[in-house]
Amino acid sequence: MTRELKPSTVAVHAGTRRSQYGEVSEAIYLTQGFVYDTAEDAEARFIESGPDEFIYARYGNPTVAMFEERIAALEGAEDAFATASGMAAVSGALTSMLKAGDHVVSSRALFGSCLYVLEDVLMRFGVEVTFVDGADLSAWKEAIRDDTTAVFFESISNPTLQVVDIASVAELAHAKGATVVVDNVFSTPVWSDAVKQGADVVVYSATKHIDGQGRALGGVILGSRDYIRKTVEPYMKHTGGSMSPFTAWVMLKGLETMNLRVRAQTSNATAIAKALQGHEKLQQVIYPGHASHAQHDLVKRQMEQGGTVLSLDIRGGKPAAFRFLNAIEVGIISNNLGDAKTIMTHPATTTHQRLSEEQRSSLGITDGLVRISVGIEDTEDLVTDILTALAAV
Ligand SMILES: *Cc1c(COP(=O)(O)O)cnc(C)c1O
Repeated sequence: MTRELKPSTVAVHAGTRRSQYGEVSEAIYLTQGFVYDTAEDAEARFIESGPDEFIYARYGNPTVAMFEERIAALEGAEDAFATASGMAAVSGALTSMLKAGDHVVSSRALFGSCLYVLEDVLMRFGVEVTFVDGADLSAWKEAIRDDTTAVFFESISNPTLQVVDIASVAELAHAKGATVVVDNVFSTPVWSDAVKQGADVVVYSATKHIDGQGRALGGVILGSRDYIRKTVEPYMKHTGGSMSPFTAWVMLKGLETMNLRVRAQTSNATAIAKALQGHEKLQQVIYPGHASHAQHDLVKRQMEQGGTVLSLDIRGGKPAAFRFLNAIEVGIISNNLGDAKTIMTHPATTTHQRLSEEQRSSLGITDGLVRISVGIEDTEDLVTDILTALAAV
């Protein structure tokens, strides 16, 4: 195909490898190993493998390769490496490129496990990490030094939905020769333009919107062919964080419907944010897609839409938040996100329980905060469910 195809077409067709049987649904090559015709063939493949030649599933597998090619085409990246989970992707993207003595600048508002990788693991191995307020460009400017190797941030933070200006941070980082690594989960592959905006490396937890149906853990690292094949692949294939062929198949099928799901979820989130504005039981409704969001202009520039997650700060702290959650009937209480089902979380007592009270308050995680990952259910059912539960508070 020589025509340039739109993302919703790419997400359905890119990367397909059909066997001699011409199957419609991608084949699951559930095999760890591959047979060589001769000893000479084995020797040759270990020296250099062609695009359709595989050695061992930890190195690569046809089903996994289909997923990697499809998501790379969709994100506009040269290449991709699929991983066993989102955290294998975050830790692999960073650890594969860093060494003792390197300096990293990171936004402070991070998913708990990302914080552990930067603060505990990297620092333990002699990498210096400076944390900044991700929304404050002058803080990034001050922290990025001539010897900074990489900057890391979540393009939209969890659960307070603070947005980082990818293009501006990338400009500051590139001026000092630093690599820009973006954890892009909350932006979703549907609304992301991170590569065009200057991200060198984009990381997704495929567990979230790519699967989007609560079945499998997975992740992916996207970047230049050089970085993926010369830096990430050797590290991942020898340390063991590769994606399984079965997971890759689940994620391929997920990509086929992701565009429809994420658009429906975003449209529901937009409607809920609108319906809840100024509600007497709420201190604040945080949704990047609504004009009331502090960085709404940046959101409009950086993404087409505000994404699938909103957070409510309910007046009355933890008791009020718990009463609200327990009164919800359509949504479920769980801690995943990006799912077809609407999922509600109380970050202060679950995902961010490990943080001290000071850390939580510096990140804006109040006791009344409830994070809602909006699903694909009927809009009116969701709005009614939330309004009814708020009335019970
Ligand atoms: C969920 C998540 C991860 C980790 O992904 P897993 O697939 O659970 O390992 C990393 N970053 C962000 C922003 C996430 O939401």
